[in-house]
Amino acid sequence: MQKTLFSLLCGLTIITANAQPKKAVSKNPTIERPKLVVGIVVDQMRWDFLYRYYDQYKPDGGFKRLLGEGFTCENTMIPYAPTITACGHTCAYTGSVPNVHGITGNAWWDSKKMRSVYCSEDNEVETVGSNTAAGKMSPKNMLVTTIGDELRLATNFKSKVIGVAIKDRGAILPAGHSANAAYWYDNKTGNWISSTWYMQQLPKWVQDFNNKKVTDSLYKLGWSTLYPIDQYTQSTSDEQAYEGKPFGSNAKGFPYDLSSFIGKNYNSISTTPHGNTLTMLMASAALEAEELGKDAATDFLAVSFSSPDYVGHSFGPNSIEVQDTYLRLDQTLGAFLNKLDQQVGKGNYTIFLTADHGVAHVPGFMKANKLPAEPFDDVALMKQLNASLKEKFSTDSLVVSMYNYQVHLNHKKIRSAQLDEEAITSIIINQLRMHEQISHAFTLMEMDEYPLNATIRERIKNGYYPMRSGDIQFILKPGYIDGGNTGTTHGLWNPYDSHIPLVWYGWGIKQGKLNRETYMTDIAPTLAALLRIQMPNGAVGHAIPEVMK
Ligand code: ZN
Ligand code: ZN
Repeated sequence: MQKTLFSLLCGLTIITANAQPKKAVSKNPTIERPKLVVGIVVDQMRWDFLYRYYDQYKPDGGFKRLLGEGFTCENTMIPYAPTITACGHTCAYTGSVPNVHGITGNAWWDSKKMRSVYCSEDNEVETVGSNTAAGKMSPKNMLVTTIGDELRLATNFKSKVIGVAIKDRGAILPAGHSANAAYWYDNKTGNWISSTWYMQQLPKWVQDFNNKKVTDSLYKLGWSTLYPIDQYTQSTSDEQAYEGKPFGSNAKGFPYDLSSFIGKNYNSISTTPHGNTLTMLMASAALEAEELGKDAATDFLAVSFSSPDYVGHSFGPNSIEVQDTYLRLDQTLGAFLNKLDQQVGKGNYTIFLTADHGVAHVPGFMKANKLPAEPFDDVALMKQLNASLKEKFSTDSLVVSMYNYQVHLNHKKIRSAQLDEEAITSIIINQLRMHEQISHAFTLMEMDEYPLNATIRERIKNGYYPMRSGDIQFILKPGYIDGGNTGTTHGLWNPYDSHIPLVWYGWGIKQGKLNRETYMTDIAPTLAALLRIQMPNGAVGHAIPEVMK
């Protein structure tokens, strides 16, 4: 033992003795960069979840290690609306807003194409890795570069950039246009797939991973709480009437038996913490097989954990299911950090952890506790608006869509029937303003004339992109959500949807915390500064100097 320590010390002395003069005389020092950057997005993680369950996070888990050794920007806000998955993943990796990057929602009504467009759809590419349509996806609807694209440009494409997530949009939009690969989960086959945008066939390591049928093994475990259920004191008791039933109407709370899904239902894994395990295993396999962080060029791995969003939508932030998902994610992240330490080396990689958006409480839970909240039905409202417009103008479907809290008029119909667009608009706005669940409604073109709080105004403006946005914006009352009587959602400007975690860790990062307001748009510029590369080409944010050594 003593000898080992002695030789170790001697070794250290020699290294130090050799390293110091080298540093001093070197005429052409190379740019110092981390070997690997790992972006972690936890889908639907509110900032307060770092602390809501803090006492039950483990010292060797992920959250306490990141917070304790890293740097946390405590007041990071999303500077646009709608606060939705596709926009969030795009913003975090581009430093940009829908007004510039064009991703105005998970889907939007396209005024040119006159149809709904899904954020990452691409009919010109094919699925790689299964025979379903789940891989007809690419980043082509995103109009700007990501930080991964800029890293590729900066190193003349020597850097490898890979995205991994259960949701296609959670892998594709972060990885960017020039990424080496993005992998997402085909919930019909249980395979990790990609598209011909990136490759013609899956690498052998992905085929091998798929052959293991990890989802089936995870289903065998079922879903019981990590700790005895009476320790879940941060949550309402299980099986409330306002919770969703994602495992079928007969499923009766914890412990959930998932064995009936084996071999046939590959979708349900997403609504369990096992979805995070599956994602972590796939990300670790990528790390190993692609030898990320092994050569001189900095690599980039973008991982998004989609399951907290599925669990959160179904059960809400005050459920045992959500609490258990975060306690288990803490362990999953801890294992992932161990893997990174082993593969790349502690101190050789930089991590940032953030979320694409937060989430509102379930209205039923709020009402049970005398807090203001209601569900809101946009389909019913659209029917109602079209019915009253038909009465007045004898024309059907003058409202073509209600995506993203915006009313989209059918301009083609209005023009061809020579209808009075101004009159139509004012009928809609009056009806919206009279609506019990809506606080504000105004035309997007004239929003500067409408008295609206400056913060909300800026966020709505940042979310506007002409060909992919509507004509009239409405804003729900705080606590009110677009949904039914069970479960919850996110999407508006309110703090529960827009206040996200932002924790930095590893190479180049100080230990500490920052309380001044920072923004989701600052993430990519901070990475650009840290890596000494160009910012993404639509970035409107600012580097956060406090986090950097
Ligand atoms: Zn999301
Ligand atoms: Zn969601």
